[in-house]
Amino acid sequence: MRFSHVTVPTLREKPADAETASHELLIRAGMMRPAAAGIYSFLPLGALALARVENIVRDEMNAAGALEVALPTLHPSEPWIQSGRWQAYGPEMMRMKDRQGREFCLGPTAEEVITSIIARSAPSYRDLPINLYQIQTKFRDEIRPRFGLMRGREFRMKDAYSFHTSEEDLDREFKAMYGAYVSIAKRCSLETSVVEAATGLIGGSESSEFMVPSDIGEDVLVHCESCDYGANAEMEKHRPAIKMGEAAAGSLEEVHTPGMTSIEEVAGFMKTAQTSVIKCVLYVSGNEPVAVFVPGYRDVSESKLAMHLGTDDFHPMREDEIERYPDLAVGFVGPVGLDGVKTVFDSELKGVKGVICGANRSDYHLRGVEEERDFNAEPLFDVASVQEGDLCFKCGGALKLSRGIEIGHIFKLGLKYSEPLNAVFSDKSGELKPIIMGTYGIGTSRMLATVVEQHHDEAGIKWPRAVAPLPVEIIVLGTEDAKQVETALKLQADLKDRGLGVLYDDRDLSPGIKFNDADLVGLPLQVVIGKKLASDGTVDVKTRYTGLKSAFEVESAADMITRALDEAP
Ligand code: ATP
Ligand code: MG
Repeated sequence: MRFSHVTVPTLREKPADAETASHELLIRAGMMRPAAAGIYSFLPLGALALARVENIVRDEMNAAGALEVALPTLHPSEPWIQSGRWQAYGPEMMRMKDRQGREFCLGPTAEEVITSIIARSAPSYRDLPINLYQIQTKFRDEIRPRFGLMRGREFRMKDAYSFHTSEEDLDREFKAMYGAYVSIAKRCSLETSVVEAATGLIGGSESSEFMVPSDIGEDVLVHCESCDYGANAEMEKHRPAIKMGEAAAGSLEEVHTPGMTSIEEVAGFMKTAQTSVIKCVLYVSGNEPVAVFVPGYRDVSESKLAMHLGTDDFHPMREDEIERYPDLAVGFVGPVGLDGVKTVFDSELKGVKGVICGANRSDYHLRGVEEERDFNAEPLFDVASVQEGDLCFKCGGALKLSRGIEIGHIFKLGLKYSEPLNAVFSDKSGELKPIIMGTYGIGTSRMLATVVEQHHDEAGIKWPRAVAPLPVEIIVLGTEDAKQVETALKLQADLKDRGLGVLYDDRDLSPGIKFNDADLVGLPLQVVIGKKLASDGTVDVKTRYTGLKSAFEVESAADMITRALDEAP
């Protein structure tokens, strides 16, 4: 492949909206171009790199015994209506109508499509288990598309679906997929940490996320420093290191706290710690207010709240909504005597004594409040966010918080889709039973961005060998020098015979620009053919990953390059 302004349109300037290295470098290295927010075109080198990632995924899925299929991207609404997700998916689903007015969506995932196929084939126990996968473009109208390929609205995903006659068999497949994902990440030079995860809208009983530790990751991860507990903060469990409130409750007392609506102000005014104050956060769900009570030193975890409310259709009460609920003393809402409002209490509030909370009267708080005596913390859930300093609920060890990029997610679905879509199998005695399912996703375009995120320096990308779009770039410095050009073409042909693709830079540009571009594009080996060819018959070879350079005799260059590639990271 020849380096040109069309095939590899490198840029010197950072794109204005690029906040992460992978977003910036994939564009500057001429691998992709934006089409609209969260939608990208892959140019030749980008398409090659994506194909390498996807081939690794394909290879490992095939090795694990899964079979590749190609499902439509345009999905009819019917199976989605049947599963209930036509409603539940909300605005993230890209919807459209055909000329007859029939409704469709651009598939965000494919449980419904695949499960209806299996349902129609009416399998017997002998036909199962089966695991079907595809590597395909997915569509989600993300509220905040960002970081280039990390959170796109059109993106690539490998999605797999497995069908079983028993929970035990699903467990076996789940472990097999777990193993396949570990191998995929390793082959792509990505270190991962696997954590327990929320099952969210897709539903199901158990799920694990494959996370690449990174400061730009959008997920917060919790790990115990003493045992093997690791979870996504969206659903983690923790034990608080401190006890809320004061030892003695004392008597209930109303205190005038004019204009003091923040926990800091109230705690400061009452000369006590935030651990003695109950925080109330008001939400609106389906036009009804919901009062969520958590310890004053914590925040509400909206993902945990979604699990308890059974919907993610809620939002913090907005200024303009307050007047709709005149009975609520907004800023001073507390659990004592709060009637006619849906409440949720964090588990840490059970049994508290000597705490402060809003008095349900503007400009007043209550002190000396005791749970059970003055209010009942019900319903009680774990709805507070984890914090640095919290302890492991399993072993009491210290919890550590970090950030990660989710590259893959595997779920045990159970009967979540087979029941509504009526996917049954006939067992040995001919009885019809619902099929037990699993689902396994891995974001291949997000994974490509993650590789760049983890493997780059100030000069550009440092492609690991296994996912590099091409293994070698040849740079000819004397583009007018017939011997240099001839040597380059011969070397390119020799490498091609060995199955090694070459990016050939014969542009009539200064060496400096060509070297910079080579580092930016970041192929594993750079072969520089210049004046040394005439003086001592050698070419220079640089390993991009390490920056190490060697001179190879031109006659043995193809052999030496092959060997150097075998050793490249
Ligand atoms: P997230 O929490 O990041 O939104 P998700 O839980 O919605 O992810 P899944 O539905 O489990 O993701 O999809 C499987 C995989 O698809 C994810 O692990 C991720 O790698 C990838 N993925 C999901 N959404 C996007 C997106 N908007 N852009 C790129 N990749 C994505
Ligand atoms: Mg999502």
